[in-house]
Amino acid sequence: MKHLKAFEDALGEIHGEGRYRVFIDLQRQRGKFPKAIARFEDGEREVTIWCSNDYLGMGQDEDVINAMHTAIDSFGAGSGGTRNISGTTRYHVDLERELADLHQKEAALLFTSGYVSNEATLSTLGKILPNLIIYSDSLNHASMIEGIRRSGADRRIFRHNDVDHLRALLELDDPERPKLIAFESVYSMDGDFGRMQEICDLADEFNALTYLDEVHAMGLYGENGAGVAEMLNLADRIDIIEGTLAKGYGVMGGYIAGHETVIDSIRSMASGFIFTTSTCPVMAAGALASVSKLRTDEGRRLRSLHQENAALLKKKFADAGLPVMDSPSHIVPLMVGDPERCKALSDTLLFDFGIYVQPINYPTVPRGTERLRFTPSPVHDGAMMDELVAAILAVWKQLGLDKAA
Ligand code: PMP
Repeated sequence: MKHLKAFEDALGEIHGEGRYRVFIDLQRQRGKFPKAIARFEDGEREVTIWCSNDYLGMGQDEDVINAMHTAIDSFGAGSGGTRNISGTTRYHVDLERELADLHQKEAALLFTSGYVSNEATLSTLGKILPNLIIYSDSLNHASMIEGIRRSGADRRIFRHNDVDHLRALLELDDPERPKLIAFESVYSMDGDFGRMQEICDLADEFNALTYLDEVHAMGLYGENGAGVAEMLNLADRIDIIEGTLAKGYGVMGGYIAGHETVIDSIRSMASGFIFTTSTCPVMAAGALASVSKLRTDEGRRLRSLHQENAALLKKKFADAGLPVMDSPSHIVPLMVGDPERCKALSDTLLFDFGIYVQPINYPTVPRGTERLRFTPSPVHDGAMMDELVAAILAVWKQLGLDKAA
């Protein structure tokens, strides 16, 4: 193999920094979330998953599964091509209509993932709007960062959720140049909300477009599950809403929603949309079932149970004296502050207690803020939480974390 040394060196560096990722081999089981079977070299064991982004358990929802069965039985497996070349099915069309309607926008456009939707849309906006300046929150997701890089637009990074800094940056630029502010509604590692109202006000004041990633909010917030913008009644002030079908909705795929002409131009120009095989019809059918279910009373029931469970877990951690971050959302970060002990805590919980929660280390979060990130769903119950807290307390002591500053 030629150039093997370069590959070995790259991996060596990742290992050296403790960033080498080992995946847990999980067998999810129909209808049994959050339980799953983990396969190890020396055998299998049942585990409780505490770190899934299948936030509401919709990936195991009977209605979603049945819709997917119906779709695969009638449409078969693949989509057959790009959207332009035979790859548009009724499910794609209906799902885009449903998403536009959900967000009260004129149109929506499906992508193969949330990552692709951000990357493809933001990179294309720079080509449509000459001289564009993009203002990006410093904690924006990698897919937005990549899209902004490739857009060719000038970039200004504002400190996370710091609207004064954003204002200062906006004030420095030529008022005539087109501007876009890109931010998220729920930041996935700290679980804090973007300052949507203030950002929309600044966008109006400085004549900027707004681009909102609602990936960690879709299905979870708002009367119909249309995200934080719906909950705050601000959706009409967001020009482009981006979401995923993979987290709250439990399936796979991403999308944008907005003004018809904007969506049509992205549809017509974005490489990441045009030059790739469209989502399998079965995925679109599952997502459609999930999105529509979460608009009903059952969706509202799941959303309120989800919030109750997140609050309950935070309370149980706090009552046990564990350093839980008091996030305002459904994300429950437990701060460890050291990469080795964070990994050791996660490993011991998995191997000794059958509790699976992935450690979150640098570069996903800053050094010194290593953590376990819990995402309790409506199907995690109080008994599972008590088991979890007892297990953490035992390992916490074992690792000397109770004595850490
Ligand atoms: N945006 C944010 C904020 C994310 O956290 C993620 C994935 N973790 C994505 C976009 C990408 O979404 P998807 O998983 O559907 O590709």
